[in-house]
Amino acid sequence: MEDVKEKMEELSLKIKSCNKCPLYENRKNAVPGEGEWKNRIMLIGEAPGFNEDEQGRPFVGRAGRLLEKFLSYINMKREDVFITNVVKCRPPNNRQPEEEEIKICTSLYLDKQIDLIKPKLIICLGNISASYIFRKFGIRFESMNRQHGRVFSISNLSLQTKIIATYHPAAILRNQNLMSIAKADWEIIGEFIRSL
Ligand code: URA
Repeated sequence: MEDVKEKMEELSLKIKSCNKCPLYENRKNAVPGEGEWKNRIMLIGEAPGFNEDEQGRPFVGRAGRLLEKFLSYINMKREDVFITNVVKCRPPNNRQPEEEEIKICTSLYLDKQIDLIKPKLIICLGNISASYIFRKFGIRFESMNRQHGRVFSISNLSLQTKIIATYHPAAILRNQNLMSIAKADWEIIGEFIRSL
């Protein structure tokens, strides 16, 4: 465990000074991720936005407040889980991260965070996260509408985990019709976490 802690900290330092893709040019702060990794529950979003870039912390704006609300429905706090993103630096004007940026950033950082934490549960927040994580673990990502709230079991030599995708909190803020669907997903997530 001490070893993992040290390696997680080392990785965070590397992320904070990373210049491996063009996103570093416009960032104020890289956002490695934060929270309790020992519970082995990872929440993975897309990329830092304006507030996250200002503070160097994930999900601290409006979407973050909604995420905290979902966590509170299932009696959890943000400190109980490890929250991070597919890419660690804010894309200009909050555009979606590009394929190449995702490739570079995940191979250097997210994949290593997953290797270190060995999550029992990965919660993908939104399409970018779900499509990266599903592909990584050999699941075909069709669409959030078809695959949200479903539990996918992964068992390979290095990891046994479950993956659940749900709507990104920012997407729910833009489309309130998604709220009740997302709440139902979070109930499934809560049930699963209680069974751990
Ligand atoms: N949206 C994300 O995907 N990640 C954050 O950290 C904040 C907003």
